[in-house]
Amino acid sequence: MDSGEIKVFKGFRSQYNDALGSFKGGIRFHPKVNLSEVKALSAWMTWKCAVVGIPFGGGKGGIIVDSKKISKEELERLSRGYIQALGDFIGPQIDIPAPDVYTTSQIMDWMMDEYSKTKGYNVPGVVTGKSLEVGGTKGRKYSTSQGGVYVFEKAVERLKMNPKKINIAIQGFGNVGAFVAEILFALGYNVVAVSDSRGGILLDENSSNCRNKIKNTKQYSLNIMEVIKFKKDTGSVVDFPGTKNITNEQLLALDVEVLIPSALENAITEKNVGKIKAKLIVELANGPVTPEADKKLDKKGVVIVPDILANAGGAIVSYFEWVQNLQNYYWEEEENVAKLKVIERAFDEVWNKKESLNISIRLATYPVAVERVAKAEKLRRNI
Ligand code: NAD
Repeated sequence: MDSGEIKVFKGFRSQYNDALGSFKGGIRFHPKVNLSEVKALSAWMTWKCAVVGIPFGGGKGGIIVDSKKISKEELERLSRGYIQALGDFIGPQIDIPAPDVYTTSQIMDWMMDEYSKTKGYNVPGVVTGKSLEVGGTKGRKYSTSQGGVYVFEKAVERLKMNPKKINIAIQGFGNVGAFVAEILFALGYNVVAVSDSRGGILLDENSSNCRNKIKNTKQYSLNIMEVIKFKKDTGSVVDFPGTKNITNEQLLALDVEVLIPSALENAITEKNVGKIKAKLIVELANGPVTPEADKKLDKKGVVIVPDILANAGGAIVSYFEWVQNLQNYYWEEEENVAKLKVIERAFDEVWNKKESLNISIRLATYPVAVERVAKAEKLRRNI
């Protein structure tokens, strides 16, 4: 510690399955991280990588720490210490960590540097989610949201919804929520409500203030670029001029066609599921719908594109980062965005499975993912 005192932090790394390729998954720094959680998340990563067809297995790690309570220097020593402790359990061909809750590109840069120091040469491919200057990839910041928009558009097409008549509400206006709002708005969709931890805003029909000012369009949406500016200035979307303030509960219950939960887990539960009016839910957050609520929504005919498919864009672009690191050849941003469209193929595979087995999209992701892993296991190990 900065005081000179020695403090020991407990950390974990779980490697669930590597039949399809190196273990891959984030590292979270959180006071409540525990072994069971990390193990479960490493299994989840296995299915996420498998369902979108990237050649990785599943891993996950964490350190029990409240990173807000330690200095930047202590955070750096802790991040480097984690890499030293893992030693040869990680590596570009073994296990490739990435950012997760409360870990940043700066932390990945330190981890990559520490690993490279132990090897004596640069090994950028040991972690993904790095800063651009040290082997990160262009477009990573909005890749989860861009992937979410690709699958959203596939779902709209499959459900034969009229794109012009879709009103969208987005819960959460952080990295994922703000980018998904921005991309949808730029594509001409109507984003009528957004929210953050302080509350939400709903487009006020009687106010000219919020109408999109882009000439020759009839788009009736919050002007997301202005909302982003407003949040930057004030710290929240609440009180954005010309809108009605609403609570997060009200946002979830709005009479909209599409709901995009992009905040935290357990947003839709048994308590509020009866109020949901949306026909399509695209889960960009991890686990925003509880299993009980999921059953009820499914019965009601609400279509849910589940998290392991909808938010896999980040994992896919991490794969691109790793590929570029190995080749030492870096692509332009447009190439990443175009290649990310592989998520559409994954959506089609899952959709076809859903149709053939007559199950929900969520359930259909599992046979697609598990079959892929099982096939690889069988071919490699004859089990
Ligand atoms: P973030 O911290 O940047 O943003 C979270 C947003 O949610 C913030 O705007 C915050 O104000 C808001 N929020 C918090 N509590 C809320 C509440 N009770 N009601 C409404 N809004 C609330 O995080 P992020 O990176 O955007 O991640 C959001 C979700 O997406 C998480 O579930 C995360 O696991 C998941 N996810 C993120 C990525 C990624 O690439 N960042 C990839 C896959 C999944």
